[in-house]
Amino acid sequence: MIPQKKYDLIVVGAGILGTFHAYHAAKKGLSVLVLEKSDQARGASVQNFGQVVPSGLDSDWQGYGRKSLAIYKELNKRWNLDIDASGSFYIASNDEEMILINELHTINQETGYLSELLNAAELTDRLPSLKKSYAKGGLFFPDELSVNPRKLIHQIHHGMQADGLADFKFNSLVVSLSTQFDLSSVYLSNGKSYKGRKIIICNGSDFQSLYPKIFVQSDLQTVKLQMLRLVHQEAVIKGNILTGLSIRRYESFRECPSYNKIKAQGPLDKELDDWGIHILFKQEKDGSIILGDSHEYLDANQQEYFDNSLQSRPHELFIREGKKIMNGLQWEIDASWAGYYSQCKQDKIFNQEIEPNIHVVTGIGGKGMTASPGYALENINRIYHD
Ligand SMILES: Cc1cc2nc3c(=O)[nH]c(=O)nc-3n(C[C@H](O)[C@H](O)[C@H](O)COP(=O)(O)OP(=O)(O)OC[C@H]3O[C@@H](n4cnc5c(N)ncnc54)[C@H](O)[C@@H]3O)c2cc1C
Repeated sequence: MIPQKKYDLIVVGAGILGTFHAYHAAKKGLSVLVLEKSDQARGASVQNFGQVVPSGLDSDWQGYGRKSLAIYKELNKRWNLDIDASGSFYIASNDEEMILINELHTINQETGYLSELLNAAELTDRLPSLKKSYAKGGLFFPDELSVNPRKLIHQIHHGMQADGLADFKFNSLVVSLSTQFDLSSVYLSNGKSYKGRKIIICNGSDFQSLYPKIFVQSDLQTVKLQMLRLVHQEAVIKGNILTGLSIRRYESFRECPSYNKIKAQGPLDKELDDWGIHILFKQEKDGSIILGDSHEYLDANQQEYFDNSLQSRPHELFIREGKKIMNGLQWEIDASWAGYYSQCKQDKIFNQEIEPNIHVVTGIGGKGMTASPGYALENINRIYHD
């Protein structure tokens, strides 16, 4: 009988976090197996906007986002990924948001992150669909990327397999793990098992199914987001579009000197605030536009599950608000969905070695497409003491 292969690393979950832990470990020459419960990655990593926006991260995390940009660009040369390099636009709609974009621009100059202040005319020149009545001015980040969330992760998996970087086993639901001395075993629902020297669990918002006790005691919360895809458009909207409510929401702006004073004035619209709505646009290469999103929260210790139905009200609000921002779009909905991720309420990520050589890395929240490639590189270097 051929003895079973012992991997240096087994990664559970083929979302963006798991995939980049596997990628960086493989680049070190380690043998890597990725186990994914579905026939392909189907979690948050395919349900998102695909905006790679280090500009929105706080100063602790922006470095991971900037490193991720470099990694995506390098992989794009190698595997021809569905990535667009048209940058990100933050569009201010009033005086308070203008103050915040000016302050963030000053911070960027100090930290050496490239951004350009645009006046209203420059903005509408570059984004002809943008309404003059909405746009007071903007901040542009030329180095940022948009990725196609429906394609990117599969393209990376394909590239990694074609280059022999890692073994991937799909339809492989991990149900339990055990450790003996310096070897761990991973057991699947189909009766198979695999052995690895280290295990990294990156199973997103499903974490509770493997370690319910740790989950319930954690400060994790699960977030449900609703999104829309508008039908293919004649209009062209280049880059990631983030609007006034995003300026009021994203972590980078919370570090601006005037943020607290502006926040203290309360929400602009109570209903939008109650749904956790801010308005983002991103056009895919096929002409369709992703529009969203809303946020609902459930704490780990609430021990409840979300109602999986899609609520119509957030969709009405996306369209109502979207119409205030863009002209000439077709607002017909092609698809709508809910995406889920987990996040920590205090920390920026959940990263624990819960048994010797078994690490859980999840709860990266709404920044996973932006920060995972860079964060995973640092985490792999830390785990392997480089
Ligand atoms: C609607 C929405 C919009 C977003 N927009 C953006 C954005 O524009 N920019 C940005 O940076 N981030 C965005 N995010 C956040 C980003 O998508 C997430 O942070 C990221 O995808 C999380 O990646 P992950 O690998 O941790 O989880 P996931 O992508 O959920 O991957 C976990 C994987 O583990 C698998 N799995 C689970 N349990 C098991 C098991 N027991 N055995 C085997 N496999 C298992 C799942 O099937 C899944 O494939 C958005 C998220 C959502 C939901």
